[in-house]
Amino acid sequence: MRVEFDRETCIGMFQCVDEWEAFVKNMDEGKADLVGAEEHDSDTFVLEVPDGEELDAKFAARVCPVDAISVYDDDGEQIV
Ligand code: SF4
Repeated sequence: MRVEFDRETCIGMFQCVDEWEAFVKNMDEGKADLVGAEEHDSDTFVLEVPDGEELDAKFAARVCPVDAISVYDDDGEQIV
C-alpha cells in the first residue's frame, strides 16, 4: 500500500496527525509533513505504508478536509 500526499493542497488543519503518526505538524509552514516520504513531483510526497499501519493511513486520508492524502493498493488502484 502506498500513500501520496499533495502538500501544496494541505491547509494545515492537522486532522491527519491525530489518525496516523506518520503525519506530523510543521507549525513554521502551516502544513503537515509525511515523515520518511520521498518527494516525487514538487510538493507531492510518496511513502510505502509500513505493515500494520494500513488502517491508520486510510483514516488519515479520509479525515483530510481538502483531500490532500490518497491511498493506493499494491495494484495501483486508489482506495481512498
Ligand atoms: S488533514 Fe489534510 S489539510 Fe490537514 S494537515 Fe493533514 S493533509 Fe493537511
